[in-house]
Amino acid sequence: MLTQYHIEIMLASLGDRFSPRAMSVIIQANINQDRLAGQVGHDEYHFDNNAFDKSYAYIEEQRALVVSSLKAGEAAPAWQAFGRFLHTAQDFYAHSNYITLWLDSFNGQTPPPPPEVAPMDPSLLASPDLRSGKVYYPFELLYFFRRTRAFSLRILPKDSHAWMNLDSPAQGFKFDYAMHAAVKRTVIEFEKTTTGFSEEMCRLFLGQ
Ligand SMILES: [Zn+2]
Repeated sequence: MLTQYHIEIMLASLGDRFSPRAMSVIIQANINQDRLAGQVGHDEYHFDNNAFDKSYAYIEEQRALVVSSLKAGEAAPAWQAFGRFLHTAQDFYAHSNYITLWLDSFNGQTPPPPPEVAPMDPSLLASPDLRSGKVYYPFELLYFFRRTRAFSLRILPKDSHAWMNLDSPAQGFKFDYAMHAAVKRTVIEFEKTTTGFSEEMCRLFLGQ
């Protein structure tokens, strides 16, 4: 997803739970995953290239870092690790075909509106049809520039990131479903992460 949408998802899902200082560190770490050095060679940050197992492992590794940092009394590294893996969890809906599979599961009937999207349907998460966009360098780079976008789409295959992504509203009606799913997933990840926290860890994590 484009940076502005990651920020929008963070504020809509968790904006009223964290202190402004905590929130700004978490958001900065989230959007920093899309820096150039975080794009190349890091499929696991963005659920790109069908790197599902690596991405799930990355999420758990960063979640463990949140817990160990808080146990050591350190809030900032916990916030950064949290922001990093939420980026990954949010990109799942923009870079995989999960939303398409969910919409297709209504077999041609009108699907429910975007706020009713189910973010973690177990049968879809385990579906053999679940895919994420492949990044075909160097042509994928042309997709990021407005003037060469049409050209890149002509030469890139349909299983590419360029064709599959739901990174912005320009991709059509499915983007709204991806946004709602990402907001819900972010709340789920927050709850999963904070389950079992002591009172002191909670206070530190929320920055209150
Ligand atoms: Zn990303």
